[in-house]
Order: sequence, then structure tokens, then C-alpha cells
Amino acid sequence: MKAETPKKPAKPVSALTGRLHKLGIYNDADLLLHLPMRYEDETQVTPVAAARPGEPVQIEAEVEHAEITFKPRRQLVARLRDDSGALYVRFLSFYPAMQKLLEPGRRVRAFGEVRSGFWGEEMIHPRLQAVQEGEVLPDALTPIYPTTAGLAQAALRKLVQRALSRASLADHLPEALRRALRLPGWERSLRYLHQPPPDARLAVLEDRSHPAWRRIKFDELLTQQIQLRRAYVERRAHPAASLPPRGLLTARLIAALPFALTGAQRRAVDEIARDLTQPWPMQRLLQGDVGSGKTIVAALAMLQAAENGMQAALMAPTEILAEQHYRKLADWLAPLDIGVAWLSGSQKKRERAAMLARVASGEALLVVGTHALIEDTVGLERLGLAVVDEQHRFGVRQRLALREKTSGRLPHMLMMSATPIPRTLAMSYMADLDVSVLDELPPGRTPIVTRLVADARRDEVIERVRDACREGRQAYWVCPLIEESETLQLQTAVETFETLSAELAELTVGLVHGRLKPDGKAAVMEAFLRNEIQVLVATTVIEVGVDVPNASLMVIEHAERFGLAQLHQLRGRVGRGAAASTCVLLYAPPLSPNGRARLKAIFETTDGFEIARRDLQLRGPGEFIGARQSGVPLLRYADLEADVDLIEVARQAAEELQARHPEAADALLARWYGGRAELLRA
Ligand code: ADP
Ligand code: MG
Repeated sequence: MKAETPKKPAKPVSALTGRLHKLGIYNDADLLLHLPMRYEDETQVTPVAAARPGEPVQIEAEVEHAEITFKPRRQLVARLRDDSGALYVRFLSFYPAMQKLLEPGRRVRAFGEVRSGFWGEEMIHPRLQAVQEGEVLPDALTPIYPTTAGLAQAALRKLVQRALSRASLADHLPEALRRALRLPGWERSLRYLHQPPPDARLAVLEDRSHPAWRRIKFDELLTQQIQLRRAYVERRAHPAASLPPRGLLTARLIAALPFALTGAQRRAVDEIARDLTQPWPMQRLLQGDVGSGKTIVAALAMLQAAENGMQAALMAPTEILAEQHYRKLADWLAPLDIGVAWLSGSQKKRERAAMLARVASGEALLVVGTHALIEDTVGLERLGLAVVDEQHRFGVRQRLALREKTSGRLPHMLMMSATPIPRTLAMSYMADLDVSVLDELPPGRTPIVTRLVADARRDEVIERVRDACREGRQAYWVCPLIEESETLQLQTAVETFETLSAELAELTVGLVHGRLKPDGKAAVMEAFLRNEIQVLVATTVIEVGVDVPNASLMVIEHAERFGLAQLHQLRGRVGRGAAASTCVLLYAPPLSPNGRARLKAIFETTDGFEIARRDLQLRGPGEFIGARQSGVPLLRYADLEADVDLIEVARQAAEELQARHPEAADALLARWYGGRAELLRA
């Protein structure tokens, strides 16, 4: 157990230690969990004449000749010979030590792939090692570890060997449970993976389906589940204000709405109402595809807080969105005589001061804003509920900052996201959240038709825009994402605005982009909403949440450059009214395989969950949520798609372990997360 506590570096970190840290290795336990990515078979020697091109083999031979040549460039070339034949080894970069190793007459082993080259049969950059008289071959496959510059495989291997001989290999899984799950023992599994016997089947080792691998993955998932359960339990130990539904304001808002809530909305409202009643902080994610109507659900929750005399805040990632929420809320709540305040970074000093005063005095119980809300000057001492819209756009810190507004009792948290989270992800990384899903769109929406059009046909697309606007509809024209340069992106948007203005002279074309002053941005959006602008040229600032029901056509230029979630979000800006909507994805061939896969996915489905699933496949969970986002360590070995069966089992096992063997649960956390578990909880 002792070896598993991370040692804080007391003295300056050595180069070796620094490199190990880079690999996430802080102690022996970390070394043991640093598992090979593949293996090489050095248990056998292949005669030179029997080496087949393209197959990694080990040969043992005598150096016949070696020289440094300069044609076509500086390189070290040597001829090696055994009883069966000879081949060349070639190094484009080399150290003096290698020259020494390759002095004529020496015996060496070389591991690599043979190919036919300029000199005849050759190995390029094989792994070389000197052979001493009477030296025996290794009796295990050679593990190849993920490593970093300046840390040689051999050194890493030695460190792992040492850890195997001195660190705890205790099996933290109760024997009965292990047997029930038909998993091999921990020590056996670890040893097998670090030192597989020569007859081990490389295929099942490398695709990680071997039982030893399953055991590792299971423990990883189990530990993650334990961590999540603890966070869940810990949260419930904090006090929060109980805000039971009093039916005063909420009922009046529902009665005044121009529409009836969908079944899914009603369910979500009920779930949230129940959570708010509890004396511990809610942590709920409201998931619903674009246009599913999350805002009204949030508004009802905010009113429930207000009914109890508490403040509620709604934070949105962009000014446009925050302002839109503010207007909508003010509009809905006007008949109820409930004050709403609004805060943004760009606000005039005087307006801001007035808003802050309304918040501080309690005249406005509801506050809407951008991250300007989390600034210290904003007094939300009576904050009972914090709503975070498009939560994936905020970092953990920003989301948590709202929670720190109060002293003593924590506010309830409602996170909203239109980026659906695949079930496997929700079960693993997000298990600390309760989830409500809006899986039903408000009635009267017509499905969006998606078209893929090569950019050579841009002119036809412009005609489509003209036709749509002639029929009284409106269109978005989204300019390409230019990752390297924001300036370039802006320039493109301005140019597109100019050409479209010229080509569609009879229409009013507007332009909105990130560099516009918030006032200017709001004015353009307002004009678009009132149909004073028919075609809105935009950068991705319109990506989230913007709601203009009359816009029924969206054109996205260089769609191949956008991420899948982003395309889905953008497309969701249309199809919000009753008219049939179209999304035209302009692309520039040739497409990369990944770009093609993304366009195919977005073309084939409008189901946010299916899109999220494919996005997860294309990008992997790290990219998908980011460790920073989730606050939960990323899985290193288990795969959410391939090991979904293990996730289910791990969930149950975590519960059992936590209840009946808490010390084993502790030991697992220490083994997998070491000192990091504490950090993650913060
Ligand atoms: P999102 O989930 O993308 O945030 P919004 O909350 O912006 O969706 O809602 C999209 C549009 O649908 C808004 O104009 C909203 O007023 C409207 N809406 C919400 N719920 C309903 C409903 N039950 N019936 C009809 N329209 C609704
Ligand atoms: Mg929204």
C-alpha cells in the first residue's frame, strides 16, 4: 500500500523524473499501470535468409563491414552476416555508441522489418543490441511502452520491472466478486501484460481482448464508477435551500404561454421541481436537441426559486444568446410582475450599476447574463438556482464559480446542453449528474432537408437563397471556420457579405461576426428577427441558441471544416418555424476521410443522439468532452463503445464495493488516481 502514495518531489525534479511525470507517472503504482501499447517478439532469432519483407523479426549476426557514407546523405551503413546470408542495416541518425556497436567482428541482434532497398535487403533503423558470449534469448515478449523524448524503452522497461518486484500487486477485488465476473487475478493480469510468455497470442494482446486486458479495463471502469459515486454522495451531504413548488408563479406562466408544454417538457419540469424541493443541491443536466424547448423549462425552474423568495441566475455563453434569453424571459414574465435583470460584459457603466442595484435590492430575483454574472461585484447571496445554458461551452471553473456566490448553502444547478451525450458517456463520465431528456420536439415542426453541394455550384445556391427570400423567408449564410487566423475568418466574412450584397441587390444582407461590438451585434440580430434583414452572413457566433423561426434556409460554406457537433448546432438554427427548412452544406473537394465521414453523418441523420454517437467514434471521449470539462479522469484503457458491457457491470460492482468493502474502494482510488483523486474532486 505504501508504494502507492505519490511522493511529493522534495528536491528539484531530475530529468528522468520530469519525463516520467510527462507520462503521468508519479509512483510505482503508476508504473504498473503504464501498460504496453504493443509487443515485439525477441524470444526467437530468425536466420537472415528466412526474414520476410514487412514482418518484424530478430536476427543475430556478425558485423562484416560498417561505414559512414554521405550519399545520398550522411548515414551509417553496416553489413551483417549469419550462416544463412547477409543484409544491411542503415541509420540516418546515429550516436557514436552505435558506431562502436557496429565495429566489424562484433555480434549483434537487430530487430526490425526487412525490405529491399538501394543496397539489397536491408533494415532501416532496427533496434540493435550487443550479444555477449553465451547470452540467452529473453523468455517473454518484449513490451513496447508509450514513451516520451529522452526516455528509452529499455530504461522504462527496467523501471517497470523494478516496480513489479516491489510495489503492491494486491487484488482489491473481493474474490467472490472476481469469480462471479470470471475475471483473472490482478497480479496475474499485470504480469501477463508486462511480460507475456513467448506463446502468447499477439493478436488478442494487441486488440486488448485478452482476459488480462479485460481485467485491467474492468478495474479502470470500476474505479471511475467509485469516484463518481463518491462525488454524488458528497454532493448530497452539502446543504441547499429547499425550494418546493408553490404553484404561484409557475402556474400563471404556464397559463399565459401561447403554447402547451410537450410531454417531455412536463416530465423535465416535474423532475426539476422535485430536485429543487430537496435540501441538497440539485445537479441536473437538461439535454434536448436544438429547438426542443429547453428555455421554458429553465424559466419555470427559475420561477420556482423566485416563489420561494430566492434568486435565480441564467448564464449563457454569448452576448447574443444572453440577450435573447433576457428578452424572452422579460416577455414571458411581464404579466407576472417579476423583475428580470440583465448583465453583460459590454454593458454601459450606468446600465450595469442600475442592474446591479436591482439585483442587490432583491427587486429583480431573476438575473440573466453572460459570464459577467460570475464577477465578484455581482451580489447573488440569495442565489437558490443557477442555470447554465450550453454548458459545454463553459469550463468547469466557470460553471462552479456561480456556486461560490453564496456562503453556506449551495445553489441548485441546472445545466443545459443541446449536444446530446451518448449513453455510454453519460454512464461513465457524467454519472455524477442526474439527467432529464427532452426527446420530443414541439409540434408543427417540419423536418430539415440537408443537401450536400460541391462549392463549384455556389451560384445555384445563391439563386436558392433568392427564391426563398422572394417567398418571404429568410436565410443564414455561414462563413467558413478558419482555425489558423481569426483575422482571415473575419476578412472572409466581410468579402462574402460584399459579394452577396452585390449579387442579391434586391435583398437586404446583414453581417454579424465576433469582432462586432455587442451593441452592433444585437442590432443586427434584432433586424434579422424583424425581417428587415433577409440574408444574414455570419461567422459561427450564431452557432448556439439563436432563435429566428422565419429563417428556413441555411447555407454553410466549407462545411467540411466544421466539427460534427457544430454542424448539428448550426443546422438547428433553421427548422424552428412551420415552413419546410433546408440546410445546404457547401464543400470543397477533395475531402479528407474524416471530413467525408462527418458530412456523411450530418447528411444521413438529424437525430442529435446518433450524431453524438458518431462524433464520439470519430473523436474519442477525450476530444468529445475534454478532461477539463468533465472533471473526471479520462479512461486510458477501457473503450466506451467496445466495453459497454463492462461499464454496466462496473456500475453494479462499484455499488457493492462501496457498501461492503469501502477499504477496497479506497485502495482502488489510490491505485488508479493516486494524489490526483483529491484534485479532481475540487
Ligand atoms: P432550445 O432547446 O434549442 O434552447 P428553445 O428553448 O429556444 O429551444 O425553443 C425553441 C422554440 O420553440 C422557441 O421559439 C420556443 O418558444 C418554442 N417552444 C418551446 N416549447 C414549445 C412548445 N411546447 N410548443 C411550441 N413551441 C415551443
Ligand atoms: Mg437554447
